[in-house]
Amino acid sequence: MKGHVDLVVRDARLLLESGLVRGGVAVMDGRICAVATDEHLPPADTTVDGRGRILMPGLIDAHAHIHDPAALDHEDFTTGSRAAAAGGVTTVIDMPLTSQLDTVEALEQRVRTGEEMSIVDFGLYAGMMRHDNVAIIPQMLGHGVGGFKAFTCEPYRVDSGVIMRLLSEVSEHGGHLTVHAEDQGVLDEFGRDMDGEWDAPVSHALSRPEIAEQLAVHGVIAIARATGGHVHIAHVTTRGGLREVELGRLHGVRVTTEVCPHHLVFDRDQMNRFGPVSKMTPPLRSREDRAALWSGLLMGSVNIVVSDHAPCPPDEKEAGRDDIREAWAGVDGVQMILRVLLSEGINRGRLSFGRLLRATTRDPARLFGLYPKKGAIRVGADADLVLVDPTLEQKVTADMMFSKCGWTLYEGLVMKGAPVMTFVRGVPVFEDDRTTVAPGHGRFQPAGSGLTRAMGQPDVHP
Ligand SMILES: [Zn+2]
Repeated sequence: MKGHVDLVVRDARLLLESGLVRGGVAVMDGRICAVATDEHLPPADTTVDGRGRILMPGLIDAHAHIHDPAALDHEDFTTGSRAAAAGGVTTVIDMPLTSQLDTVEALEQRVRTGEEMSIVDFGLYAGMMRHDNVAIIPQMLGHGVGGFKAFTCEPYRVDSGVIMRLLSEVSEHGGHLTVHAEDQGVLDEFGRDMDGEWDAPVSHALSRPEIAEQLAVHGVIAIARATGGHVHIAHVTTRGGLREVELGRLHGVRVTTEVCPHHLVFDRDQMNRFGPVSKMTPPLRSREDRAALWSGLLMGSVNIVVSDHAPCPPDEKEAGRDDIREAWAGVDGVQMILRVLLSEGINRGRLSFGRLLRATTRDPARLFGLYPKKGAIRVGADADLVLVDPTLEQKVTADMMFSKCGWTLYEGLVMKGAPVMTFVRGVPVFEDDRTTVAPGHGRFQPAGSGLTRAMGQPDVHP
């Protein structure tokens, strides 16, 4: 080994594409310079003893609402990235929440703010997409945006014609369109049925029935088929929605999808007991839908797991105590993805380590063109790593959460398996239940930048 080795993590079980193997990694200038059995690792300035725990690439959370200049009481780059680090997430893809990100000026400002405040790396979504900002797509792609967000329903609803134009642009210029897919007509009709029952939190879920998702997913996939554009279905939650994705793929449509940890853990039957904290869109579903999401994740019809992290101050949940419509729709999640997949997935035999690795690291990195700079343990990749103790049992409480919101949907759940140490480009950012680096360590990761670095034969196609 020529040069100066900064860090070695040894005596770990490395989670590689090929499976779990004993060994460790060496890091030089923020990148992995060796992956080897312990006796072949070089001496280094700092050595971390993995004590037989699992070392895997840091997670890439490809859908998180971290920093909205108009809602900084919800979260910001510092608190959100701390929660990410504590969840083993080393790159977050920040998605617009209420403030639009559809100009180069807004993008450059967001990059500056992120590089000042974040402790983990980040990428950016643009949105919300409308008929009057379709033309920004090539320009935003040129500035490192990898995905664009649109809705088929309120509050950012656009009609099918606009989705068609957006997917045509994406087909021509690259990137992908991520669609929040629920049919507004169905929501309007079923919403009226709930009048007089809005004091029951479950009314939120019953007013947005499964068919709303299936219809909207069906429609956007038809448009993707017609245009050739890559559509990514945000947070799929239903059997019907998932079936449409599978059918689309059988027909050769470029369609990918994601699930969120809360839809894997909770059912709508729990909503009245949990109260407004359990409100998000799409809502919690039935046990049968939840089982279908696990199975889709295991079999690969669900590509990736994302947090859709969108917490709020407690009073914005309390506001829905007597009328669930008044509560903020969104929950915490960036700190929970890995815990949920370990505790509810691996430990219950619903998920394999191979699928965990792909759905949280490799495939989100590919979706944003960051692979193999991100999302892999291999020589030349960024040393974004998380050391995982699969046997550690913890009761989740709000005070272990780094989010600004001060509450968690997962309160009181006993979970087995947790990240214990997280590194971003070779620097420890989380250890011993604390974050260990000052804001400003995070760097913007332009979409596509993983493909430009010469490192053998990168896999370029999502
Ligand atoms: Zn979202």
